[in-house]
Amino acid sequence: MRSRLAEADPEAAAILEREERRQQQGLTLIASENHAFPELRPLIGSVFADKYAEGQPRRRYYGGNLHADEIEELAQGRAKALFGAEHANVQPLSGSPMNQAVYFGLLAPGDTILAMDLSHGGHLTHGAPVSAMGRIFRFVRYGTVAGGGFDFDAIRETARRERPKLLITGFSSYPRDIDYAAFKAIADEVGAITMADVSHIGGLIAGKALPNPLAAGFDVVTTTTHKTLRGPRGGLILCREPFRRAIDQAVFPGLQGGPHMDQVAALATALHLAAQEEFQAYARRVLDNAKALAAALQGRGAQLVTGGTDNHLLVVDVASSFGIDGDEAQQRLDRVGLVSNKQVVPDDTRPPLRPSGLRLGTPAVTTRGMREGQMTALADLIVDAVTGARPEPALANAVRDFARRFPIPG
Ligand SMILES: *Cc1c(COP(=O)(O)O)cnc(C)c1O
Repeated sequence: MRSRLAEADPEAAAILEREERRQQQGLTLIASENHAFPELRPLIGSVFADKYAEGQPRRRYYGGNLHADEIEELAQGRAKALFGAEHANVQPLSGSPMNQAVYFGLLAPGDTILAMDLSHGGHLTHGAPVSAMGRIFRFVRYGTVAGGGFDFDAIRETARRERPKLLITGFSSYPRDIDYAAFKAIADEVGAITMADVSHIGGLIAGKALPNPLAAGFDVVTTTTHKTLRGPRGGLILCREPFRRAIDQAVFPGLQGGPHMDQVAALATALHLAAQEEFQAYARRVLDNAKALAAALQGRGAQLVTGGTDNHLLVVDVASSFGIDGDEAQQRLDRVGLVSNKQVVPDDTRPPLRPSGLRLGTPAVTTRGMREGQMTALADLIVDAVTGARPEPALANAVRDFARRFPIPG
């Protein structure tokens, strides 16, 4: 296959090789990225990608779907078993259409949604003014308190005043646990549907390292499948039975056409691998590594938003710690092969393209086999690059040597 590509399109083949080398020789510290299970490669881009399977298993609009039905039912069954859900929709093309499907399935335009503030860690699809969702639904926001955590009395007051139809918990950049039962109690008081967007931590919940919002009685849980879950790119909606029809119809025909069946097939295998004990050990290691990295960074003078982490990510306030903005920090790290992203901190006074923070995560380096013992060396490389304490060529060599010891699986 590879030699055929190289022959037919040497330009694209060469770019692919450069990207492979970039990933192998550097280290991914972006909290939302990971290296997918290598077992999925034969399924991603397989002949299933050539098949149209609009509709639900056994209720399709095209012929030839015998095996598409088999593979989708396999994925649905595994998703339900792994997360303890009454229903699973495995068709969302990615995380954003997944959340849109929940909104369009369960709400009417103009309805009120109570969700986490973007600068406090919420996601764009949770009603950022620049997202289409922010123009269609009426978003009301809650934030975190200084040092992390939530003021549930204030959130209850907001909920009583605004009467949201949907209450969302979930984040892209919040380093602490969430008390799902407390959110559920507030939603019940005002008759709101509960949704947890666990896109970042879906794999950590599947691996039983973090609590499952469905166990706290949440109505809907959404997760991307390509972050901590190590599956193909995609979205997964889990819900209670009464919401099944509305959500399925919002995915198709509401928002999407044919599902990407190679992605659904790869998800089936990812869910199988995520159900193994080995994956539970991986999920715990992701958390142990994040704690160790946080402590080592603090030892080198880094100030962390909320003072630490309970999950896979941490946010360094690089402006307060080192006197440079997040964009400059990201660029300095990039130049030595450490890949991260700039990040706003709660109520950031700096602009989003030059924010105060830097977000770091341990899922990808843990996939490469790093343990707590490696986190001090990693923290030293990060701080030396951000502060310019060592010359960049020397640091780039050190990162390459370090990365070589932990090859990407597959
Ligand atoms: C990543 C993420 C999404 C969106 O996923 P895409 O696949 O990038 O569209 C939605 N919600 C949260 C909380 C996320 O972290």
